[in-house]
Amino acid sequence: MQPITSEQIVLVSRPEGVPALNNFKIVTAEIEPLQAGEFLVKNQWMSVDPYMRGRMKAGDSYVPPFQLNAPLEGGCIGEVIETNHDNFPVGSMVLGNNGWREYWKSTGDGVQKVDPEVAPVRTYLGALGMTGLTAWVGLNRIAQVRPGTTVFVSAASGAVGAIACQIAKAKGCHVIGSAGSREKVQWLLEKAKVDAVLNYKEASNLSSELHALAPQGIDTYFDNVGGDHLEAAIDAMNDFGCCIECGMISTYNLTDASPAPRNLFKVIGKRIRIQGFIVRDHAADQPEFLKEVGALIQSGKLVWQESIYEGLAQASTAFIGLFEGKNNGKALVRI
Ligand code: NDP
Repeated sequence: MQPITSEQIVLVSRPEGVPALNNFKIVTAEIEPLQAGEFLVKNQWMSVDPYMRGRMKAGDSYVPPFQLNAPLEGGCIGEVIETNHDNFPVGSMVLGNNGWREYWKSTGDGVQKVDPEVAPVRTYLGALGMTGLTAWVGLNRIAQVRPGTTVFVSAASGAVGAIACQIAKAKGCHVIGSAGSREKVQWLLEKAKVDAVLNYKEASNLSSELHALAPQGIDTYFDNVGGDHLEAAIDAMNDFGCCIECGMISTYNLTDASPAPRNLFKVIGKRIRIQGFIVRDHAADQPEFLKEVGALIQSGKLVWQESIYEGLAQASTAFIGLFEGKNNGKALVRI
């Protein structure tokens, strides 16, 4: 193997508040020659995800923090271009966790082959990957939503939110979304066939807007945002309802504690269940998820948007865009 140099993005400082471009730097690294049992991957796609913000903090979390001046990590899809591994021949397309760089070596641990015949390979970072599984697990395993019930989804036009809205629709639920622009609201109503959508940036009072759209109350809240959205959902929640705590993006860049939800005491009187989950605990659900969501995709009942950024150098911009509402649907970087 010829020596290969790989561009990769490292974190040079931990963000204070919203991440800035100068928290990141592109550096060049040399890839060591392949050992027995290893293969070399050239990345084609990488995902940027809100959870990465948590790993940019120094403190303990459910995943260890990113190290300064070490390459960042995250979901990626690439092609095996050299191999000393029988199960990963040259030309295999693989899903790994070595995003934010051009090339990586592996022994195959934690790496999955993906089938380009089933769907464009980048779909395995979105609807057919961690994003879609997150939506599916929240609705099926955490809330067990039933037909005829009302589901409220925040960040509804985002990667997870859009899939959650449509899985809930396919299950016969009445679905209400929230999103941060008129264009996103329109897409949700016209393309994702969500029943009603509020534009939280134009709402003077989120609770009363949600009440107006759901006068009978909501039964399930798929929380991607936290803060004021969680507060409005608790206000609107029917007795014995469930808050699926998937994410709280409105809090990720806060430097002080979030003031909301100020109405948490209502959880008692309404007997609300609030349950968090982490998708990586649900690998065993993948076959059932793929069967159900794969069928929705094949029947054309599941649609999604992608914001594609061109080139590794755009990865930090793509990531920061998550917190500015700049992306439509799944944010991906083509490397
Ligand atoms: P998205 O594609 O939804 O991107 C983020 C979106 O969130 C933005 O486009 C923006 O949309 C909205 N947003 C950003 N800041 C705010 C804010 N302050 N208030 C309200 N909305 C905001 O990301 P994902 O779909 O990948 O992730 C959605 C959520 O799911 C995140 O909270 C993430 O952490 C969580 N997650 C959890 C997992 C788990 O295992 N529990 C796994 C994967 C994701 P808009 O323009 O509408 O404001």
